[in-house]
Amino acid sequence: MINFDYSRPTTIKAAIDALNKDASAQFIAGGTNLVDLMKRGVMVPQKLIDINRLPLREISKINNGVRIGALALNSAVAENELINEQFPILSLALKAGASPQLRNMATVGGNMLQRTRCPYFYDTNMPCNKRKPGSGCSALKGYNRMHAIFGASDQCIAVHPSDMCIALAALDATVIASSNKGERRIPFLNFHRLPGNTPNVDNNLQRGELITAVEISNAGMFSKNVHYLKVRDRASYAFALVSVAAALDLSGDTIKGARLAMGGVAHKPWRLLEAENFLKGKKATLANFTQAAHLAMKGAKGYGYNNFKLTLAPNAIIDTLKTASGIS
Ligand SMILES: Cc1cc2nc3c(=O)[nH]c(=O)nc-3n(C[C@H](O)[C@H](O)[C@H](O)COP(=O)(O)OP(=O)(O)OC[C@H]3O[C@@H](n4cnc5c(N)ncnc54)[C@H](O)[C@@H]3O)c2cc1C
Ligand code: SF4
Repeated sequence: MINFDYSRPTTIKAAIDALNKDASAQFIAGGTNLVDLMKRGVMVPQKLIDINRLPLREISKINNGVRIGALALNSAVAENELINEQFPILSLALKAGASPQLRNMATVGGNMLQRTRCPYFYDTNMPCNKRKPGSGCSALKGYNRMHAIFGASDQCIAVHPSDMCIALAALDATVIASSNKGERRIPFLNFHRLPGNTPNVDNNLQRGELITAVEISNAGMFSKNVHYLKVRDRASYAFALVSVAAALDLSGDTIKGARLAMGGVAHKPWRLLEAENFLKGKKATLANFTQAAHLAMKGAKGYGYNNFKLTLAPNAIIDTLKTASGIS
């Protein structure tokens, strides 16, 4: 274990100031990802700023939606009455993640910023452009079963591992970040990045920014016909091979609006906008769901061991839409 300094500020300003003072300082929330990375020498912060004393745990009703503090625990969000009533897809996605013990430690902000689970990223003996830019990507020609089929680059084919973020992407959430320049609102779809030539950068949060909350609006619009399907190697304690979040706004069997996002397939939560547009105004039928899945798979590419996802993903989309709509 490396040596590091540790502080526990009680105000947002003090936390941000402490981060700005030291280029290698890092916030720590639940620690469920960061501590693992430190133990393996993947991340080596000289200073940890424990943010658990900041007043950022509240889940509150706002105009037509909900505001979730960045320190709200994954378990608290999943069990929250307002979330269950108005945004049940978020609750379903959270409950599909990790284990009850981990969800009791993991926070919303930390979940968004968790690093990829690509095994080569965690193995400091192997080349990895995300860990060490310019060193190469071991997964491209390696064991890439868990890896991306959309939006990858020749620098990195890793996927974002979160379940929660797939639901937040489908719900068009907004991330609120604070810095010494003030507050910034970032649309969820612009928060995480594709790898391109900078796979070491996972997201668009700037140095010096603290995530303070996530907001979701359109309460109730997607409160009934929703489903989160997570296909994985084990029933618990396993990351998604492919996951699908589907939320439908139905009038009878007509789809007034659809939200679809996938996990386990790209470096960021992968929203299926073309499929959503296709479904709008259509009947909830197997034929339409099959066509939507077909559209969603445009541009998909396998890298060998993960070729099975090219079949698994469209089947998962169809299955999720069937369950969400209630058609048999
Ligand atoms: C065995 C295991 C299985 C898992 N399975 C799943 C799974 O199936 N699905 C899933 O989605 N996740 C899974 N996870 C991941 C888990 O959900 C994340 O580790 C957790 O959400 C991270 O939250 P945390 O609060 O512990 O973050 P930390 O580890 O404390 O921090 C993670 C990163 O976020 C930064 N950070 C934290 N909060 C803020 C903030 N407010 N502002 C700015 N930066 C911040 C930290 O500096 C750090 O870089 C699993 C983890 C483990 C260990
Ligand atoms: S896929 Fe990305 S994280 Fe994995 S080895 Fe390649 S560069 Fe590293």
